[in-house]
Amino acid sequence: MSRQAEKDKLEKQEYGSHERFSPYSIMASYGLSAKKALGQNFLSDLNVVSRIVNAADLGPEDLVLEVGPGLGVMTSMLAEKAGYVAAIEIDRDLRCVLDPLELKFDNLRIVYQDVMRLNIGALIEEIKEGRPELKNVKVVANLPYYITTPIIMMFLEQYAQVLRSLTFMVQKEVARRLVSPPGSGEYGAISVAVAYYSAASVCFDVPASCFVPRPKVDSSVVNMSVYSVPPVVPRSSDNMFRLVKAAFSQRRKMLVNAISNAAFPGVTKERVTDALDSLSISPSVRGEMLGVKEFAALSDILFDH
Ligand code: SAM
Repeated sequence: MSRQAEKDKLEKQEYGSHERFSPYSIMASYGLSAKKALGQNFLSDLNVVSRIVNAADLGPEDLVLEVGPGLGVMTSMLAEKAGYVAAIEIDRDLRCVLDPLELKFDNLRIVYQDVMRLNIGALIEEIKEGRPELKNVKVVANLPYYITTPIIMMFLEQYAQVLRSLTFMVQKEVARRLVSPPGSGEYGAISVAVAYYSAASVCFDVPASCFVPRPKVDSSVVNMSVYSVPPVVPRSSDNMFRLVKAAFSQRRKMLVNAISNAAFPGVTKERVTDALDSLSISPSVRGEMLGVKEFAALSDILFDH
């Protein structure tokens, strides 16, 4: 079967309450239109949806938090595979599409709220109450592109202890930044944070043609397997991240200068040079060459006093 024929066959499959999966026809039948300001680029390729769901590796023990269910296409697949799904959607106009889904699946709850304002910890507790089978919490999302980084960082910084994994779609360029290693051009403060909290990798790329409306850029699906115990344990992760921020705010400068320019009390250029020396790191190194282990060790030395 040709690629196009395979695609046509998939599109003809019955999906949820819709005979044919086409975001435009779903939107038209409910009188909806995509809201650019909310990052509403809906997936129109079922094959991609099922690949994302497969990448999340779901089973009956999993409580899934979906950010931005949109027209609910991935939501249905998630509810079929996971023990329970809480889908958080900011746009109440999508109630006409999502409320019927909530009725269809007794393991699905739609929460109409801004994910950045929601008390996710309380939501997880409430859902787990009386459902002892739900052992893991996994985030799965085709993220709204205007707010990808804040959402990812919110989950990592506030909920790393309760999350097993995050599987999400972001712009290709953002995906590369999240997973890039020290020394590469895309490596930055966010790559250090991701490496601190998780083992992350790009699962596959998704062309812009798989969305409607079609975005300007291609996308990638990223999987983060969250560490139950981080690979490094600095005395203070806040201090480590202050150091990381200073290092990358002047990434073209040598690390000694970038850190001493940040004017942390008592952290002189001489102390930074000595600290690097004690870690057998060249005094002329740039911050972009250091991995999370080195940043942790350096912050333990520099913020000892
Ligand atoms: N999951 C659907 C799909 O794959 O076709 C929709 C993905 S679309 C890229 C992003 C979704 O996130 C939209 O439904 C949008 O309304 C929703 N959204 C945007 N900002 C949000 C926020 N702050 N909190 C929760 N949902 C949000």
